[in-house]
Amino acid sequence: MTKYQLHIAGDWVDPDSGEWLDTIDPYRGEAWAQIPRGNSTDVSHAVSAAQHAMTDGPWATMSASARGKIMRNIGDLIVKNAQRLAEIEVRDNGKLLAEMHGQLTALSEVWYYYAGLADKIQGSSIPVEKPQSVAFTTREPIGVVAALTAWNSPLWFAAVKCAPALAAGCAVVVKPSEFASASTLEFAGLTKDAGLPDGVFNVVTGLGPEVGSALVEHPVVSKITFTGSDTTGTRVYETAARTMKRVSLELGGKSPNIVFDDADLDMAATGVISGIFGAAGQMCSAGSRLLVHSSIAEAFTEKLLQLAQNIRLGDPMDPQTNVGPIATPPQYQKVLHYIDVAKAEGARSILGGRPATDPGLVGGQFIEPTIFVDVTNDMKIAQEEVFGPILSIIEFDDEDQAIELGNDVAYGLVAGVWTKSIGRALRMSKALHVGTVWINTYRTYSYMVPFGGTKRSGLGREHGIEAVDEYLETKSVVISTDDGQPSNAFVMR
Ligand code: NAD
Repeated sequence: MTKYQLHIAGDWVDPDSGEWLDTIDPYRGEAWAQIPRGNSTDVSHAVSAAQHAMTDGPWATMSASARGKIMRNIGDLIVKNAQRLAEIEVRDNGKLLAEMHGQLTALSEVWYYYAGLADKIQGSSIPVEKPQSVAFTTREPIGVVAALTAWNSPLWFAAVKCAPALAAGCAVVVKPSEFASASTLEFAGLTKDAGLPDGVFNVVTGLGPEVGSALVEHPVVSKITFTGSDTTGTRVYETAARTMKRVSLELGGKSPNIVFDDADLDMAATGVISGIFGAAGQMCSAGSRLLVHSSIAEAFTEKLLQLAQNIRLGDPMDPQTNVGPIATPPQYQKVLHYIDVAKAEGARSILGGRPATDPGLVGGQFIEPTIFVDVTNDMKIAQEEVFGPILSIIEFDDEDQAIELGNDVAYGLVAGVWTKSIGRALRMSKALHVGTVWINTYRTYSYMVPFGGTKRSGLGREHGIEAVDEYLETKSVVISTDDGQPSNAFVMR
């Protein structure tokens, strides 16, 4: 069994606690590796290493172009190690190997993209109204960044947080989820091979309340970038406020996929099915509420059933598998709980609604793709994030009602709209209070397009040029060109 160490100041070190946590393969239900149980002492060492790298190390004096070159090396090493990294993440969280292949290609591109931005970060010159004054701004790295990530896509989260942070000149301490830490630790080794100076990229694994909270409380950390549940995100936000840390939060969703009667129904059905059953529904952007026009509801539901009945559950390493296991035991229990809640509230399952019973799946945490009808938007199944393969179908009669239902949740991450009318598509994209609207497509992510939530789905944006701003402070410099008196000097007599 692989036994990992922490990555601090460029070294592999044992945790201060002397303890390790088992990491479970959710397909086999067996431990396959052990990750260090870090604590606040490890956090202090990692934060000191990051602070040292930002003030005294070569990172502090290196040109932005040189930073970019190292980041490009990281992208190259991801390409070379893609198969190995993909297999590790599949063993850790049950994500499909086929999906990981696509994600790793995009992952190297994320590093190349932000490598290219590193030497394009610049301030501006301001035509200030004061006579004999010159004013300009500089953009400076925000300081030591703590990146706290969720278990469903650890390498992706590490990339979209750390690549812009490094482009900005920051140093980072990553705390991956205790359920899926191995790929981030493996990746740390690549950053060293790429030539990243010691202390710029540190990884401390362990439990949220032990490692995560120590990072959020640490006085030297300037910025927290967090992906996870809104419950933990709220706690992180409150704690970070005490030391006035900058915070970005990528939280949950209860996203609507809205299908109008003028849509291409075959295309929409494929989008709805992959939008909720892809990754077994364990996606922040899962389209967990289908809002469908009442005139097509019956025919469209029939199309969904035909597609969903052909979904193959199985080994996430097998290219034939469409849906893998639920990643963690608590998440498995949570999904089953919501199925019970939905039934108790009066929703009717027309597909699935139980754990998968195929003998080939025993040992894994599998739940059948589930579709509920007779759902109203006030039910828990329509309001709360399940993070599993559960679709709720709700009907609407007109555009206004679709907007009202679409917005009537605490979250505001993404929405899908399926229509052939350009006018309607634009009206809907304006009216929906979400961070991203996908028209006639769903989950079409790009690392170049800003991503993030409104309302309870979070704060700040990842991806795109905007992401770099999350790791920069603006400094203003005002210079008097009058060698005699400063322009606003107190006059001495
Ligand atoms: P989680 O909130 O349980 O954990 C996230 C991270 O926070 C983990 O590393 C965890 O160890 C750490 N943590 C836990 N308690 C902490 C504490 N007290 N202080 C500091 N850190 C602590 O979330 P999860 O179960 O790992 O992930 C699932 C959630 O993530 C879902 O709600 C999902 O919607 C969300 N998510 C959001 C996005 C997005 O981009 N918006 C993407 C993926 C997942």
